Amino acid sequence: MKNSVPEIGSPARTKAILTRYKLVAKKSLGQNFLSDLNILRNIVAAGDVTENDNVIEIGPGIGALTEQIAKRARKVVAFEIDENLLPVLDETLMDYDNIKVINQDILKANLPAVIKDEFEPGHPVKIVANLPYYITTPILMGVLQSGVDFDEIVVMMQSEVADRLVAKPGEKAYGSLSVVMQYRAHVEVAFDVPRTAFIPQPNVDSAIIRLSPREPLPVKPYEDQALFRFVKGCFAHRRKTLWNNLQGIFGKQPEVRERIETVLNDVEISRQLRPERLTLINFIELTNAFHNEGLM
Ligand code: SAM
Repeated sequence: MKNSVPEIGSPARTKAILTRYKLVAKKSLGQNFLSDLNILRNIVAAGDVTENDNVIEIGPGIGALTEQIAKRARKVVAFEIDENLLPVLDETLMDYDNIKVINQDILKANLPAVIKDEFEPGHPVKIVANLPYYITTPILMGVLQSGVDFDEIVVMMQSEVADRLVAKPGEKAYGSLSVVMQYRAHVEVAFDVPRTAFIPQPNVDSAIIRLSPREPLPVKPYEDQALFRFVKGCFAHRRKTLWNNLQGIFGKQPEVRERIETVLNDVEISRQLRPERLTLINFIELTNAFHNEGLM
């Protein structure tokens, strides 16, 4: 990078790039460009990215975060769906030889294949991204179910979704997303980001979430997908009791109700509880107990 040119994520350079390419941020693609160099550097630091790491980025935009990752990482592979941004990225990132941009919808990407083709084996693989907010949950679910063991995932999302990811039992934001994510990973908020850090400004504040490998659980569900379906079913009506939700899942016939009651007695969970009181371990034990009872 030539010294005279400010880095991409500075407000002045961001505005200059948008003007030069006559870019109008597409709301439909969640395009809000982060233009605060301290925040951009702190995101990369939150992922503890070093020259030993291979990094996947989702949605490079005009390359502000990509540049900061490339300065520290071994290699960056960035998925960008908007082909209008490809010539922009070609120019803004021209001084870096460790970046590959792939023009593809991240939801259709075959991550294991890309990692095999693009990264030398034997190095940590991380994800660092300012996510397109309209698809935060499908992206995270896809990444966590891709079969790739990421060493670290550091992603920005709207605060409200971040709150749901880290919520604990009994908290207002606790729901199926909290349980499923916390089953897959250790989830924590790294830091908050105000809406003023973006061009254009979004209508919401944001947070950086760090997902790292979680410690092994004392119990495992008989099948991951069964656990996820069960958790979703239990939260279908979060104001209702567990007993009501379970009848919604399994049925209301007297014989079924009797079997539900047997399971609840066996695992010693009160039917009057609301689903938001149940811990991840409770959900796993219930999934296995209903499976053993032949209800799932
Ligand atoms: N990384 C840039 C930054 O921090 O300033 C831009 C982040 S912006 C919030 C989200 C980016 O994701 C946009 O560049 C948008 O075009 C891209 N995007 C949206 N949907 C996508 C998808 N399905 N697959 C890949 N990229 C996508």
